[in-house]
Amino acid sequence: MKNSVIPIFIPHLGCPNACVFCNQRRIAQERAPETHEVKSIIEEALKTSDKPQVSFYGGSFTAIDPSLQEEYLSAAYMFYKAGLIDSVRLSTRPDAIDESVIARLKKYGVKTVELGVQSMDDRVLSLSKRGHTAADCERAANALKAAGFEVILQIMPGLPGASRENDLETAKRVAALSPAGVRIYPVCVIRDTELCDMYERGEYKPLTCDEAADLCADIFDVFVEKNIPVVRIGLNPTEELSGGAAVAGAYHPAMGQLVRSAWLFKKVCALLDVQNAKKAVITVPAGRLSDMRGQKNLNVKKLKERYPETEIEIREDKELKAPFAVKII
Ligand code: SF4
Repeated sequence: MKNSVIPIFIPHLGCPNACVFCNQRRIAQERAPETHEVKSIIEEALKTSDKPQVSFYGGSFTAIDPSLQEEYLSAAYMFYKAGLIDSVRLSTRPDAIDESVIARLKKYGVKTVELGVQSMDDRVLSLSKRGHTAADCERAANALKAAGFEVILQIMPGLPGASRENDLETAKRVAALSPAGVRIYPVCVIRDTELCDMYERGEYKPLTCDEAADLCADIFDVFVEKNIPVVRIGLNPTEELSGGAAVAGAYHPAMGQLVRSAWLFKKVCALLDVQNAKKAVITVPAGRLSDMRGQKNLNVKKLKERYPETEIEIREDKELKAPFAVKII
């Protein structure tokens, strides 16, 4: 039995917005589940999961018709009341949160709310046609936190009009909201989006995977410094995205690893740059060896080039709690 999440995809459902990066037409073809289907999905998942969290994702849950929200939430609530699921989570837009929404979510055992902040720069939000402001993000995150919800904030580095500076500023302002976690989705240009048209007309230049990894490493650092968990980096790889729907930008099946590797490289260099080391023993926790070594051993090669006089050893330590440790000899 695993303790996990039951994902229930609630597509666009008439989201009034048209963010440039959102592939509405593609998503619009998907049918929203009926309430009885929601119940069946949960029942089926309960056969192999122990007290999972039910997650309504896709679209903007609290922007859909309130009676439909009630239907979906009450379908999950039955299982919550029976002690079979841990809680409910959902994702939505910052401007679709108000007192009545908060009261509804409380009533139905919602524990976690994910907000698509994307940027804290109003010009970037406007160029991306988000339809909300940075102040909306702050207001919604604070209201949800005050009501006791676990708040996860999502950001998208590399949107139209964004720069390294304002993406880093976004990370700092998001960290200042002290969310329970963040998701970092560097922009991926998806077919059938306005952003794709802008890209094809030469009006928008996306970050490459390498540029995104470098920038997101610095953004990641902002959250590590504040002890804010980064629960996801980069879009979940899918056959559709890998098969051509990801037209350009930062799509990589292992984006998270690229970012963690770039971050570890920078952190280790910051220490070795100021020391004359004969030998450096770099230790990482269990399962993080490949992050430190980098894809195709890139970090190892770059460290050897940068510190030709230093013997570099990379080890795993199952007991290590910190993201890395460096012993300089
Ligand atoms: S708010 Fe969300 S669902 Fe609506 S257009 Fe923007 S990204 Fe798509």
